[in-house]
Amino acid sequence: MIALSLAEIAEVVGGQTHDIPDPSVQVTGPVVRDSREAGPGCLFVAFAGERVDGHDFAAAVVEAGAVAVLGTRPVGVPAIVVDDVQSALGALARHVVRRLGATLVALTGSAGKTSTKDLIAQVLRRKAPTVFTPGSLNNEIGLPLTALSATEETRFLVLEMGARGIGHIRYLTGLTPPKVGLVLNVGSAHIGEFGGREQIAQAKGELVEALPSEAEGGTAILNADDPYVRAMASRTKAKVIFFGESGEADVRAENVRLTDTGQPSFRLHTPSGASDVTMRLYGEHHVSNALAAAAVAHELGMSADEIAVALSEAGSLSRWRMEVTERPDGVTVVNDAYNANPESMRAALRALAAIGKGRRTWAVLGKMAELGDEALAEHDAVGRLAVRLNVSKLVAVGGREAAWLQLGAYNEGSWGEESVHVSDAQAAVDLLRSELRPGDVVLVKASRSVGLESVAQALIETG
Ligand code: ATP
Ligand code: MG
Repeated sequence: MIALSLAEIAEVVGGQTHDIPDPSVQVTGPVVRDSREAGPGCLFVAFAGERVDGHDFAAAVVEAGAVAVLGTRPVGVPAIVVDDVQSALGALARHVVRRLGATLVALTGSAGKTSTKDLIAQVLRRKAPTVFTPGSLNNEIGLPLTALSATEETRFLVLEMGARGIGHIRYLTGLTPPKVGLVLNVGSAHIGEFGGREQIAQAKGELVEALPSEAEGGTAILNADDPYVRAMASRTKAKVIFFGESGEADVRAENVRLTDTGQPSFRLHTPSGASDVTMRLYGEHHVSNALAAAAVAHELGMSADEIAVALSEAGSLSRWRMEVTERPDGVTVVNDAYNANPESMRAALRALAAIGKGRRTWAVLGKMAELGDEALAEHDAVGRLAVRLNVSKLVAVGGREAAWLQLGAYNEGSWGEESVHVSDAQAAVDLLRSELRPGDVVLVKASRSVGLESVAQALIETG
């Protein structure tokens, strides 16, 4: 964080100082909410959760070097006391980003935010110091904490923004107003909570409404291949740049194909030139993510060649997203268990088919959560797609959604023995341990709540 005195922090957040002998002492380190991350110079934010109350760790964090605690009551060590810690954290982030010399880039969408954010960061940091959201910390707490981790040297601040309802993105852009806003797609993630695709588009589009005008330097980067996102062009005063596979897009891909190893390769076209990209990441959905990252980097002054090299060398920075592991016995495990929605299920199955060409392939799949009324149809469609892509075996894990997956496969290809329904992750592991043969390729994927990474990990350790 940029150095701030406790007096200034207290003023910014409208808090009372307690047990602070010298208010001119500065916070120089990061702002942390996990007591285990506390170190010299930091500010510790005490949240009172259901099971753990951050205030209980006040003495320990000061012992570890924290300058003060930001909380809702005096704790016997230096503290700034406020009514509401979350708003205080937000106010502090808003204050700090105004003083940074960094360009703020924010992105949202239904799927691919973290993957794309990681790509953007890996491209931009070749040009200048870049701070970006760690993992998926994209909510009203993770976002300000990320923004507060920027320093005077930071030139680009890349922030993932998540939305579970109308008004969420507006709140986040109020804390950290972006200059460049990117919307990836409007899919069916959380469609149950939102009530429909129109509402999702309404919520995600708040990002481009918050951008400054073109004259003030604002840029909206929109996916030309997604009609809901394309339509957001009318909701912004900012300059609009389109990315996508469609011919009219400003930043687009030509000759898109998957290499023999399942990695996407294409010719990148930007308004300033063209260059070839072969990605290290797996799955064709990364073409769209890469184009989005390329559009951001182009807008921030990078050439097509620089962008293409960076995209070709970029790896995954976040866990359990299409992580490919070769076992010594020749079994390949593809761990995409971080999350799942219909779009990413289809992309992952197609990647499995490419990686496993000529080999025996297994799709170990669990439910896609939060699909509301579309749940049955979407699980049925994924089961059918597995058949059409010639996946050798489907292992459906869990309750009724798994049954729907299996039923789809049965209806599409009269699949009997080719598909198995097991009740839980352990049963899937037991089955696979006895059935896998050298050369097999196994994809593991489901929504976060299913926790199928345990299957992938067990399989990797077995080998
Ligand atoms: P979250 O809402 O959990 O933060 P996210 O939007 O950050 O998710 P990622 O973590 O990047 O998304 O990816 C989640 C899943 O979606 C992964 O399984 C990944 O394979 C898949 N995915 C990534 N990019 C896309 C895309 N452009 N379209 C569809 N699916 C994608
Ligand atoms: Mg994410």
